[in-house]
Amino acid sequence: MRAVYFRDGEVELRETCGTPDEGVRVRVRSIGICGSDLHMLGMKSPLQCVAGHEVAGVLDDGTPVAVEPSVPCHECASCRAGDYNLCPVGAGRSLGVGRNGGMADELRVPESCLVYLPSSIDLRDACLVEPLAVVVHGMRRAGLEAGQRVAVIGGGAIGLCAVAVAKADNATVGLSARYDHQVAAGRSLGAGEIEGQYDLVVECAGTEKAVNRAIKLCRPKGKILILGTHWNGIPLQQIPAMMKEITIVFSFMYAANGAVRDFDVAAMLLARHPEIAKALITHRYPLAEVKQAFAVARDRKAGAIKVVLEP
Ligand SMILES: [Zn+2]
Ligand SMILES: [Zn+2]
Repeated sequence: MRAVYFRDGEVELRETCGTPDEGVRVRVRSIGICGSDLHMLGMKSPLQCVAGHEVAGVLDDGTPVAVEPSVPCHECASCRAGDYNLCPVGAGRSLGVGRNGGMADELRVPESCLVYLPSSIDLRDACLVEPLAVVVHGMRRAGLEAGQRVAVIGGGAIGLCAVAVAKADNATVGLSARYDHQVAAGRSLGAGEIEGQYDLVVECAGTEKAVNRAIKLCRPKGKILILGTHWNGIPLQQIPAMMKEITIVFSFMYAANGAVRDFDVAAMLLARHPEIAKALITHRYPLAEVKQAFAVARDRKAGAIKVVLEP
């Protein structure tokens, strides 16, 4: 089988005779390229495993699944409470980070990673369940309520997923995005321009400027949900945030709310709203063209939002 590795800042497609992983075999049908993949590609110490954590495919019997990349211990206090994203060993061994991921013809995963999909989802789009689950979890952390005013800063895949999740909850959504194609994608999902103050501001740009704009846009006693990844920390304007008593909410990956995983909610949402995939997926490549796919994903100006590989 073929699998994608990162080496010396380069993407490498290798022919391998499989991986030693145990678990259920998933034949990959779609796998998304994420901003964190681009970040890991550029890191000094290269990833030791197959890349990729936005995975959808089929089991040997043809059952369609998305793959939740979390591999928590299932035993610690956080895991037992359903907060398995906070498991102390979980993040380091998740798929595409510490264990072989899905940029490959197939992968083997623990059964707990399987997310059974409604049959109405196109498997070519189902790799989007992962970024949607990130947003579903964040909105749950932020206590999104029906009909709220929500501003989204950042028009990448996570920002557009935030628009979609907020609209599904009947929010009035304003989007601030850098590029015209992102604005157009946001419009197609129901986002308008930003004006006035907001109950909830979702920061999805990962920049200092975005965080401080979020503080300006947030109403007194409102909330800011940080979904952007600030690899070098956030210098934020504390005084205006303090004077409005803003609550800043952090969020990490996805977890479960009782028996329902954020991933399950995300899968239902994607099934009910095919327009999300239409707005987000701008490019599709066969696995053999993975280098080209990464080059396009890296170049935001080229019009890419979500670039998907189809093994
Ligand atoms: Zn991702
Ligand atoms: Zn645990």
